[in-house]
Amino acid sequence: MKALVFEAPGRLKWKNVPEPVLQEPYGAILHPVAISVCSSDIHTVYGGGVPKQTNHIMGHECLARIVRLGQQVRDFQVGEVVAVPAITPDWRAADVQLLNERHAGEHFSGHRLGRTWPGVFADYFALPDADTMLAHIPENVTMEQALMSVDVMTTGFTGAEYAQIKSGDTVCVMGIGPVGLMAVAGAAHMGAARIIAVGTRPVCVKLAKQYGANDIVSYKNGDTVQQILRMTDGVGPDSVIIAGGGDEAFTQAVDMVRYGIGTVSNVNYYGGTGFLAFPKFSGGRGMAGKTVHTELAKGGRVRIERMMSLIRYGRVDPGPLVTHQFNGLDELTSAVDLMRQKPPELIKTMVRID
Ligand SMILES: [Zn+2]
Repeated sequence: MKALVFEAPGRLKWKNVPEPVLQEPYGAILHPVAISVCSSDIHTVYGGGVPKQTNHIMGHECLARIVRLGQQVRDFQVGEVVAVPAITPDWRAADVQLLNERHAGEHFSGHRLGRTWPGVFADYFALPDADTMLAHIPENVTMEQALMSVDVMTTGFTGAEYAQIKSGDTVCVMGIGPVGLMAVAGAAHMGAARIIAVGTRPVCVKLAKQYGANDIVSYKNGDTVQQILRMTDGVGPDSVIIAGGGDEAFTQAVDMVRYGIGTVSNVNYYGGTGFLAFPKFSGGRGMAGKTVHTELAKGGRVRIERMMSLIRYGRVDPGPLVTHQFNGLDELTSAVDLMRQKPPELIKTMVRID
């Protein structure tokens, strides 16, 4: 079969590789029918990311048709098109009993597809536990919406959930790429009164407003922290969700979040090595009462089915995040190139495959 393989840093190549074999009685073999490229795929191949395995099939965002199922699978049928969660915790790991499903057993054990397992950029891929790692797509949820639920929507909502938003809160969302936009939607959904979004690209600003942002702050108009402190009478937001930006975003979030009860919720990826700076002064010299969460997206079947439930019943529509469509597995490289070039009108790609 054909697969798009991470050969070495900077090199992504089509290769002929053996088809996966069904090994587990609970497993599934799947054929992707819609794929999206993640910015983390770009980090991994083209730098910024920590070097992972080479000669590895990339990709973790897809909808797929079930081709084969293990004998013990209960809830899915061969031929069904399902959503595949980007994060697939091993629900049999003992740490799950401590509610530590995303890092159960080892760091990032929940993020294996396209990382330590062969990914979805291929004709076929395998998962070891269909009943916990696949999600049914409701009838009136579109391909675009379902595809956006598997990673960007659940990540944005994870950011909003760990921001511990209470009704009436002021929430700042830093970064309004796809994840930030879903964090805006999540914050609105969880009862934020005022949502301040930090970003500049017109296509994203427009969607941020649609998803519930009241104010848009641009670094082009001056220091981000000072602008937001002025807008909030010096108090700062009740919570700050970091969904984009470089290392300075972390420091800015701690700088501006409210003393005593403020929460910083980070779902942003910081490439490279070194440290993130926790500011001593605005951090109250260690006594400011500011909470910081650092979170990998929630995943697994029930999570993604709940995301699609929000879509199905009209609470959130992540469909407009798909700005560029392609047809056929071969076109996946065009989608990767586009994600690399990042033209201003791009948010997410979708590659449809028969
Ligand atoms: Zn992703």
